[in-house]
Amino acid sequence: MQKNILIIPGDGIGPEVTACGKAVLEEVAARYGYAFAFEEAQMGHEAILATGVALPDETFEKAKASDAILFGAVGHVRYDNDPTLKVRPEQGLFRMRKELGLYANIRPVILFDELLDASSLKPEIVKGTDILFFRELTGGAYFGEKVRSEDGEMASDLMVYHRYEVERIAVKAFEAARTRRKKVCSVDKANVLESSRLWREVVQQVARRYPDVETTHMLADNTAMQLIKHPTWFDVIVTENLFGDILTDETAQVVGSMGMLASASIGDGTGFFEPIHGSAYDIAGQDKANPLASILSAALLLEIGFGMKEAAKQVNDAVARVLKAGYRTSDISGRMGHKDKIVGTREMGALVI
Ligand code: ATP
Ligand code: MG
Repeated sequence: MQKNILIIPGDGIGPEVTACGKAVLEEVAARYGYAFAFEEAQMGHEAILATGVALPDETFEKAKASDAILFGAVGHVRYDNDPTLKVRPEQGLFRMRKELGLYANIRPVILFDELLDASSLKPEIVKGTDILFFRELTGGAYFGEKVRSEDGEMASDLMVYHRYEVERIAVKAFEAARTRRKKVCSVDKANVLESSRLWREVVQQVARRYPDVETTHMLADNTAMQLIKHPTWFDVIVTENLFGDILTDETAQVVGSMGMLASASIGDGTGFFEPIHGSAYDIAGQDKANPLASILSAALLLEIGFGMKEAAKQVNDAVARVLKAGYRTSDISGRMGHKDKIVGTREMGALVI
Protein backbone atom coordinates (compact mmCIF):
# COMPACT_ATOMS: atom_id res chain seq x y z
CA MET A 1 0.00 0.00 0.00
CA GLN A 2 1.25 3.47 -0.84
CA LYS A 3 2.58 5.61 2.01
CA ASN A 4 2.33 9.37 1.69
CA ILE A 5 5.28 11.21 3.20
CA LEU A 6 5.18 14.96 3.64
CA ILE A 7 8.55 16.73 3.54
CA ILE A 8 8.69 20.07 5.39
CA PRO A 9 12.24 21.40 4.87
CA GLY A 10 11.72 24.66 6.83
CA ASP A 11 14.49 27.22 7.43
CA GLY A 12 18.26 27.53 7.73
CA ILE A 13 19.97 24.16 7.38
CA GLY A 14 16.54 22.46 7.30
CA PRO A 15 16.34 22.11 3.50
CA GLU A 16 19.93 20.80 3.16
CA VAL A 17 19.63 18.09 5.77
CA THR A 18 16.07 17.11 4.88
CA ALA A 19 17.13 16.54 1.26
CA CYS A 20 19.49 13.85 2.58
CA GLY A 21 16.82 12.27 4.77
CA LYS A 22 14.42 12.19 1.84
CA ALA A 23 17.04 10.70 -0.47
CA VAL A 24 17.58 7.87 2.02
CA LEU A 25 13.82 7.18 2.11
CA GLU A 26 13.78 7.07 -1.70
CA GLU A 27 16.64 4.60 -1.65
CA VAL A 28 14.83 2.42 0.92
CA ALA A 29 11.68 2.49 -1.23
CA ALA A 30 13.67 1.39 -4.29
CA ARG A 31 15.47 -1.46 -2.48
CA TYR A 32 12.51 -2.84 -0.53
CA GLY A 33 9.86 -2.19 -3.17
CA TYR A 34 7.92 0.18 -0.93
CA ALA A 35 5.61 2.71 -2.61
CA PHE A 36 6.42 6.05 -1.00
CA ALA A 37 4.81 9.17 -2.46
CA PHE A 38 6.41 12.48 -1.46
CA GLU A 39 4.88 15.92 -1.14
CA GLU A 40 6.49 19.12 0.09
CA ALA A 41 5.13 22.02 2.15
CA GLN A 42 6.26 25.21 3.88
CA MET A 43 6.50 26.06 7.56
CA GLY A 44 8.42 28.60 9.66
CA HIS A 45 10.25 31.76 8.63
CA GLU A 46 10.13 31.03 4.89
CA ALA A 47 6.39 30.39 5.21
CA ILE A 48 5.95 33.71 7.05
CA LEU A 49 7.74 35.55 4.24
CA ALA A 50 5.61 33.81 1.61
CA THR A 51 2.20 33.75 3.30
CA GLY A 52 2.28 35.86 6.48
CA VAL A 53 1.76 32.87 8.80
CA ALA A 54 4.15 30.24 10.18
CA LEU A 55 1.88 27.29 9.42
CA PRO A 56 -0.21 27.93 6.29
CA ASP A 57 -3.54 26.05 6.22
CA GLU A 58 -2.43 24.27 3.08
CA THR A 59 0.55 22.78 4.94
CA PHE A 60 -1.64 21.71 7.81
CA GLU A 61 -4.13 20.02 5.47
CA LYS A 62 -1.31 18.16 3.73
CA ALA A 63 0.08 17.13 7.12
CA LYS A 64 -3.23 15.66 8.23
CA ALA A 65 -3.57 13.77 4.94
CA SER A 66 -0.07 12.24 5.10
CA ASP A 67 1.07 9.01 6.76
CA ALA A 68 4.26 10.54 8.15
CA ILE A 69 6.10 13.86 8.12
CA LEU A 70 9.84 14.42 7.75
CA PHE A 71 10.68 17.89 9.01
CA GLY A 72 13.88 19.97 9.03
CA ALA A 73 13.92 22.99 11.34
CA VAL A 74 12.32 26.42 11.73
CA GLY A 75 13.71 29.71 12.96
CA HIS A 76 15.62 32.82 12.00
CA VAL A 77 18.01 35.08 13.86
CA ARG A 78 15.82 38.13 13.31
CA TYR A 79 13.31 36.77 15.87
CA ASP A 80 16.06 36.27 18.49
CA ASN A 81 16.97 39.93 18.23
CA ASP A 82 13.39 41.18 18.31
CA PRO A 83 11.23 39.45 20.94
CA THR A 84 8.31 41.78 20.15
CA LEU A 85 7.68 40.24 16.72
CA LYS A 86 4.22 38.71 16.98
CA VAL A 87 4.34 36.24 14.09
CA ARG A 88 7.11 33.73 14.89
CA PRO A 89 8.38 30.57 13.17
CA GLU A 90 7.99 28.33 16.26
CA GLN A 91 4.25 29.05 16.26
CA GLY A 92 3.97 26.78 13.22
CA LEU A 93 5.63 23.94 15.06
CA PHE A 94 3.54 24.46 18.19
CA ARG A 95 0.27 24.52 16.27
CA MET A 96 1.31 21.42 14.35
CA ARG A 97 2.13 19.55 17.59
CA LYS A 98 -1.08 20.61 19.29
CA GLU A 99 -3.45 19.98 16.39
CA LEU A 100 -1.91 16.67 15.31
CA GLY A 101 -1.99 15.62 18.98
CA LEU A 102 1.75 14.89 19.03
CA TYR A 103 2.06 14.54 22.77
CA ALA A 104 5.11 12.26 22.95
CA ASN A 105 8.52 13.34 21.72
CA ILE A 106 10.84 10.36 21.58
CA ARG A 107 14.57 11.06 21.44
CA PRO A 108 17.09 8.25 21.33
CA VAL A 109 20.46 9.45 22.61
CA ILE A 110 22.93 6.84 21.45
CA LEU A 111 26.68 7.19 21.35
CA PHE A 112 28.17 5.54 18.28
CA ASP A 113 31.41 3.88 19.39
CA GLU A 114 33.13 5.56 16.45
CA LEU A 115 32.34 8.98 17.96
CA LEU A 116 33.84 8.35 21.41
CA ASP A 117 36.40 11.10 20.89
CA ALA A 118 33.81 13.63 19.66
CA SER A 119 31.99 13.65 23.01
CA SER A 120 32.57 16.61 25.32
CA LEU A 121 33.14 14.10 28.13
CA LYS A 122 35.77 11.48 28.87
CA PRO A 123 35.42 8.26 26.84
CA GLU A 124 35.30 6.05 29.95
CA ILE A 125 32.27 8.01 31.19
CA VAL A 126 30.25 8.07 27.97
CA LYS A 127 31.06 4.73 26.35
CA GLY A 128 27.86 2.73 25.90
CA THR A 129 25.43 5.64 26.41
CA ASP A 130 22.00 4.59 25.13
CA ILE A 131 19.14 6.65 26.55
CA LEU A 132 15.59 6.88 25.26
CA PHE A 133 13.86 10.12 26.22
CA PHE A 134 10.10 10.54 26.33
CA ARG A 135 9.48 14.26 26.48
CA GLU A 136 5.88 15.40 26.94
CA LEU A 137 5.24 17.77 24.05
CA THR A 138 1.83 19.43 24.20
CA GLY A 139 1.49 20.50 27.84
CA GLY A 140 3.36 22.38 30.54
CA ALA A 141 4.60 25.96 30.50
CA TYR A 142 4.98 26.10 26.70
CA PHE A 143 1.25 25.72 26.20
CA GLY A 144 -0.23 27.22 29.37
CA GLU A 145 -1.77 30.69 29.47
CA LYS A 146 0.71 33.47 28.77
CA VAL A 147 0.24 36.85 30.40
CA ARG A 148 1.97 40.19 30.19
CA SER A 149 0.68 42.93 32.46
CA GLU A 150 -0.52 46.15 30.87
CA ASP A 151 2.44 48.12 32.16
CA GLY A 152 4.73 45.42 30.78
CA GLU A 153 6.39 44.89 34.17
CA MET A 154 5.07 41.38 34.86
CA ALA A 155 4.94 38.23 32.74
CA SER A 156 3.86 34.67 33.45
CA ASP A 157 3.59 31.29 31.74
CA LEU A 158 1.24 28.86 33.39
CA MET A 159 2.56 25.31 33.80
CA VAL A 160 -0.47 23.04 33.52
CA TYR A 161 -0.74 19.25 33.50
CA HIS A 162 -3.76 16.99 33.55
CA ARG A 163 -3.73 13.43 34.86
CA TYR A 164 -4.49 11.96 31.41
CA GLU A 165 -1.57 13.84 29.83
CA VAL A 166 0.91 12.36 32.29
CA GLU A 167 -0.61 8.91 32.13
CA ARG A 168 -0.51 8.48 28.36
CA ILE A 169 3.17 9.42 28.03
CA ALA A 170 4.11 7.37 31.09
CA VAL A 171 2.48 4.32 29.52
CA LYS A 172 4.50 4.86 26.32
CA ALA A 173 7.71 5.11 28.35
CA PHE A 174 7.03 1.94 30.35
CA GLU A 175 6.07 0.01 27.22
CA ALA A 176 9.35 1.04 25.59
CA ALA A 177 11.34 0.13 28.72
CA ARG A 178 10.01 -3.42 28.45
CA THR A 179 11.74 -3.78 25.09
CA ARG A 180 15.01 -2.40 26.51
CA ARG A 181 16.86 -2.60 29.84
CA LYS A 182 13.63 -2.28 31.86
CA LYS A 183 14.44 0.94 33.73
CA VAL A 184 12.35 4.10 33.77
CA CYS A 185 13.58 7.31 35.38
CA SER A 186 10.83 9.90 35.75
CA VAL A 187 12.12 13.46 36.04
CA ASP A 188 10.24 16.24 37.83
CA LYS A 189 10.55 18.98 40.47
CA ALA A 190 8.09 17.47 42.92
CA ASN A 191 9.83 19.26 45.80
CA VAL A 192 8.64 22.67 44.56
CA LEU A 193 6.06 22.34 41.75
CA GLU A 194 2.47 21.18 42.17
CA SER A 195 2.32 20.05 38.54
CA SER A 196 5.34 17.86 39.32
CA ARG A 197 3.61 16.36 42.36
CA LEU A 198 0.74 15.32 40.08
CA TRP A 199 3.31 14.03 37.58
CA ARG A 200 5.01 11.85 40.19
CA GLU A 201 1.72 10.55 41.60
CA VAL A 202 0.50 9.46 38.16
CA VAL A 203 3.83 7.90 37.16
CA GLN A 204 3.83 5.93 40.43
CA GLN A 205 0.34 4.63 39.61
CA VAL A 206 1.35 3.61 36.08
CA ALA A 207 4.54 2.00 37.44
CA ARG A 208 2.45 -0.42 39.53
CA ARG A 209 1.15 -1.90 36.28
CA TYR A 210 4.76 -2.62 35.22
CA PRO A 211 6.28 -4.50 38.18
CA ASP A 212 8.98 -5.91 35.89
CA VAL A 213 10.29 -2.38 35.22
CA GLU A 214 12.52 -0.62 37.77
CA THR A 215 11.17 2.90 38.38
CA THR A 216 13.05 5.83 39.86
CA HIS A 217 12.06 9.46 40.36
CA MET A 218 14.72 12.12 40.04
CA LEU A 219 14.61 15.87 40.43
CA ALA A 220 15.38 17.77 37.22
CA ASP A 221 18.39 19.64 38.64
CA ASN A 222 19.95 16.44 39.93
CA THR A 223 19.24 14.76 36.58
CA ALA A 224 21.12 17.54 34.77
CA MET A 225 24.14 16.62 36.87
CA GLN A 226 23.76 12.82 36.73
CA LEU A 227 23.41 12.87 32.93
CA ILE A 228 26.96 14.07 32.53
CA LYS A 229 28.31 12.19 35.55
CA HIS A 230 26.89 8.73 34.78
CA PRO A 231 25.09 8.85 31.40
CA THR A 232 25.24 5.06 31.04
CA TRP A 233 23.15 4.62 34.20
CA PHE A 234 20.00 5.78 32.34
CA ASP A 235 17.72 3.68 30.14
CA VAL A 236 14.31 5.34 29.57
CA ILE A 237 13.72 8.88 30.86
CA VAL A 238 10.21 10.32 30.94
CA THR A 239 9.70 13.99 31.69
CA GLU A 240 7.59 17.06 31.06
CA ASN A 241 7.99 19.50 28.20
CA LEU A 242 10.41 22.16 29.53
CA PHE A 243 12.71 19.79 31.45
CA GLY A 244 12.80 17.46 28.44
CA ASP A 245 13.74 20.30 26.11
CA ILE A 246 16.71 21.30 28.25
CA LEU A 247 17.91 17.84 29.28
CA THR A 248 17.93 16.43 25.76
CA ASP A 249 20.06 19.29 24.44
CA GLU A 250 22.46 18.70 27.32
CA THR A 251 22.62 14.99 26.53
CA ALA A 252 23.28 15.76 22.86
CA GLN A 253 26.71 16.93 23.93
CA VAL A 254 27.37 13.59 25.63
CA VAL A 255 27.09 11.82 22.29
CA GLY A 256 29.04 14.29 20.16
CA SER A 257 26.80 16.78 18.42
CA MET A 258 23.28 18.08 17.95
CA GLY A 259 23.83 16.99 14.37
CA MET A 260 23.58 13.33 15.43
CA LEU A 261 20.26 13.35 17.24
CA ALA A 262 16.91 12.41 15.74
CA SER A 263 13.44 12.54 17.20
CA ALA A 264 9.97 11.18 16.65
CA SER A 265 6.87 13.03 17.79
CA ILE A 266 3.87 10.79 18.01
CA GLY A 267 0.33 10.81 19.26
CA ASP A 268 -2.82 9.27 17.93
CA GLY A 269 -2.40 10.14 14.26
CA THR A 270 0.34 11.07 11.79
CA GLY A 271 3.87 10.96 13.24
CA PHE A 272 6.34 13.81 12.88
CA PHE A 273 10.06 13.08 12.52
CA GLU A 274 12.82 15.66 12.89
CA PRO A 275 16.40 16.30 14.02
CA ILE A 276 16.58 17.84 17.50
CA HIS A 277 18.76 20.68 16.23
CA GLY A 278 17.38 23.97 14.99
CA SER A 279 17.89 26.09 11.90
CA ALA A 280 21.59 26.85 12.63
CA TYR A 281 21.87 29.88 10.34
CA ASP A 282 25.56 30.21 11.16
CA ILE A 283 26.27 27.28 8.85
CA ALA A 284 23.24 27.36 6.53
CA GLY A 285 23.77 27.17 2.79
CA GLN A 286 27.44 26.19 3.16
CA ASP A 287 27.16 22.41 2.74
CA LYS A 288 28.56 22.09 6.28
CA ALA A 289 25.58 20.80 8.27
CA ASN A 290 25.62 17.24 9.52
CA PRO A 291 22.72 15.43 7.80
CA LEU A 292 22.91 12.34 10.02
CA ALA A 293 20.25 13.62 12.44
CA SER A 294 17.83 13.94 9.53
CA ILE A 295 18.85 10.55 8.14
CA LEU A 296 18.39 8.96 11.58
CA SER A 297 15.01 10.74 11.77
CA ALA A 298 14.12 9.05 8.48
CA ALA A 299 15.07 5.74 10.14
CA LEU A 300 12.72 6.53 13.04
CA LEU A 301 10.01 7.34 10.50
CA LEU A 302 10.46 3.89 9.00
CA GLU A 303 10.56 2.14 12.38
CA ILE A 304 8.02 3.99 14.51
CA GLY A 305 5.88 5.54 11.78
CA PHE A 306 5.60 2.54 9.45
CA GLY A 307 6.81 -0.43 11.52
CA MET A 308 9.51 -1.14 8.89
CA LYS A 309 12.08 -2.33 11.42
CA GLU A 310 14.44 -4.07 9.01
CA ALA A 311 14.71 -1.05 6.71
CA ALA A 312 15.28 1.21 9.73
CA LYS A 313 18.07 -1.06 10.94
CA GLN A 314 19.70 -0.95 7.51
CA VAL A 315 19.78 2.85 7.65
CA ASN A 316 21.25 2.89 11.17
CA ASP A 317 23.86 0.31 10.16
CA ALA A 318 24.78 2.35 7.09
CA VAL A 319 25.38 5.40 9.29
CA ALA A 320 27.59 3.35 11.62
CA ARG A 321 29.58 1.99 8.66
CA VAL A 322 30.18 5.46 7.23
CA LEU A 323 31.43 6.64 10.62
CA LYS A 324 33.59 3.54 10.99
CA ALA A 325 35.17 4.31 7.62
CA GLY A 326 36.30 7.63 9.12
CA TYR A 327 33.98 10.09 7.40
CA ARG A 328 32.95 13.09 9.52
CA THR A 329 31.17 16.37 9.05
CA SER A 330 33.15 19.02 10.90
CA ASP A 331 30.82 19.09 13.96
CA ILE A 332 31.72 15.47 14.79
CA SER A 333 35.41 15.66 14.04
CA GLY A 334 36.99 14.62 17.32
CA ARG A 335 40.16 15.24 19.26
CA MET A 336 41.91 12.92 16.81
CA GLY A 337 40.61 15.15 13.99
CA HIS A 338 43.69 14.70 11.82
CA LYS A 339 42.55 11.11 11.18
CA ASP A 340 39.08 12.14 10.02
CA LYS A 341 37.96 12.42 6.42
CA ILE A 342 35.98 15.66 6.56
CA VAL A 343 33.04 15.78 4.17
CA GLY A 344 30.15 18.15 3.49
CA THR A 345 26.42 17.65 3.87
CA ARG A 346 25.76 16.25 0.40
CA GLU A 347 28.71 13.88 0.41
CA MET A 348 27.79 12.52 3.83
CA GLY A 349 24.27 11.84 2.57
CA ALA A 350 25.58 10.13 -0.55
CA LEU A 351 27.97 7.96 1.51
CA VAL A 352 25.12 6.66 3.66
CA ILE A 353 23.12 5.79 0.54
P1 ATP B 1 17.09 27.49 16.40
O1 ATP B 1 16.91 28.90 16.83
O2 ATP B 1 16.22 27.09 15.27
O3 ATP B 1 17.10 26.50 17.55
P2 ATP B 1 19.90 27.75 16.46
O4 ATP B 1 20.56 28.78 15.66
O5 ATP B 1 19.73 27.89 17.93
O6 ATP B 1 18.53 27.40 15.77
P3 ATP B 1 20.64 25.04 16.78
O7 ATP B 1 20.26 24.17 15.70
O8 ATP B 1 19.83 25.00 18.01
O9 ATP B 1 20.75 26.48 16.18
O10 ATP B 1 22.15 24.67 17.04
C1 ATP B 1 23.09 25.42 17.73
C2 ATP B 1 24.43 25.29 17.02
O11 ATP B 1 24.82 23.93 16.89
C3 ATP B 1 24.32 25.83 15.61
O12 ATP B 1 24.54 27.19 15.58
C4 ATP B 1 25.36 25.02 14.86
O13 ATP B 1 26.62 25.63 14.93
C5 ATP B 1 25.38 23.69 15.60
N1 ATP B 1 24.57 22.70 14.86
C6 ATP B 1 23.25 22.44 15.01
N2 ATP B 1 22.84 21.50 14.15
C7 ATP B 1 23.92 21.13 13.43
C8 ATP B 1 24.13 20.20 12.37
N3 ATP B 1 23.16 19.43 11.86
N4 ATP B 1 25.38 20.09 11.87
C9 ATP B 1 26.38 20.83 12.37
N5 ATP B 1 26.25 21.72 13.34
C10 ATP B 1 25.03 21.90 13.89
MG1 MG C 1 18.47 26.22 19.36
